[in-house]
Amino acid sequence: MDELNFESKLLSTPFPKKDNYNSLSMPVYNTAAYEFDTAEEMEAAFCGKTPECTYSRIANPTVQYFENRVKTVTGAFAVTALNSGMAAITNTIMSLAYSGCNIITSRHLFGNTYSFFVNTLKPFGVEIRFCDLTNVQEVSENIDTNTCALFLEIITNPQMEVADLAALSAVAHANRVPLIADSTIIPFSTFHAKDFGVDIEIVSSTKYISGGATGLGGLIIDYSIFDWAHSPRLKDLARQFGNNAFFAKLRQEIHRNFGAYMTPQTAYMQALGLETMEIRFQRESQICTELAKRLKSIPEIEGVNYTGLPDNPFSDLSLKQFGQYPGAMLTFDLASKKACYSFMNKLKLIRRATNLFDNKSLIIHPASTIFGTFTQQVRDEMNVSDKTLRLSVGLESADDLWNDILQALEN
Ligand SMILES: *Cc1c(COP(=O)(O)O)cnc(C)c1O
Repeated sequence: MDELNFESKLLSTPFPKKDNYNSLSMPVYNTAAYEFDTAEEMEAAFCGKTPECTYSRIANPTVQYFENRVKTVTGAFAVTALNSGMAAITNTIMSLAYSGCNIITSRHLFGNTYSFFVNTLKPFGVEIRFCDLTNVQEVSENIDTNTCALFLEIITNPQMEVADLAALSAVAHANRVPLIADSTIIPFSTFHAKDFGVDIEIVSSTKYISGGATGLGGLIIDYSIFDWAHSPRLKDLARQFGNNAFFAKLRQEIHRNFGAYMTPQTAYMQALGLETMEIRFQRESQICTELAKRLKSIPEIEGVNYTGLPDNPFSDLSLKQFGQYPGAMLTFDLASKKACYSFMNKLKLIRRATNLFDNKSLIIHPASTIFGTFTQQVRDEMNVSDKTLRLSVGLESADDLWNDILQALEN
């Protein structure tokens, strides 16, 4: 089925088991537990000798169906779904980190990822080494034998810095360190993480996949590039399970102990959202590109940051990695925080809300919201300016959005 396109492959993903009623939609298995005919079968399932579900903290058929769809279209080795993008990030790191290890990353991070690293992990003896990820030499110099992961976002939010993935994966792999990439900004229908040497891809499925923003979700996608024998936390499992070591850790320990597995209702909604993801992404990205060009022509707007603009410092890298339309998020600067607030308050069509890649266009002032409880010093270090607005473009028409922007700019 490799020759099929994204949607065709997705739509022909079979159910984990044939449905008794030949339902055309995947049923929602709202159940916590599963019954067994015999104690022996129960033992086999609980000890991982048979694939039967035992308890929905670890596996559920509806969630498995969503996972299988993602696995089919990404060509991944293994996929699991969790209750949020943050759960996907934290559960991945908790599988690899140990007291005395370090993680190489950037200060240009989603706010809660930064907070997880700095506030949650540090007290457990995990060192966070912030580097300039556009400087491969600096990254290389910071890696040592206790580095458990190189973590990055493919386009950072809201700074819009693009990681050179081939260069960074080469450095990581030369040092036997896994590259973990949060690819939430560009969906896997367009961005093929495996081609750039990403070992573990993390996606907040709350965003493009859910589409209508119906609920939170996260995905962990393993491309089976990394040899887990080089991971201190996984080397024993690697001897037993080979390239399945990371997923064995997730399924046998992390899902069981952290309880962040996706719920069936969410999996149903997100499996449905996935069916229209690529067409929504294409349309939203095209409108976003058009709006970025128009915003550039307005004198009051001090800077328009979108990697699809030809004069963006990352435009070549962005084109190479993400294609012609690099997503539906842009940022722009007005003269002051006051000007940003006045603009936001006049908008009629664009909604004042957080989140990304909803079908509705959304605007937020990141410095005072997502980064609102951070100190000024940390915001400065993260390059989060209080003159910046972030726009996530939805499915409204480009002209209607443009007219809303123009009327809100008028004094
Ligand atoms: C939204 C987001 C997250 C967190 O995802 P949730 O589903 O909200 O937990 C992580 N990384 C990036 C880049 C995001 O945009």
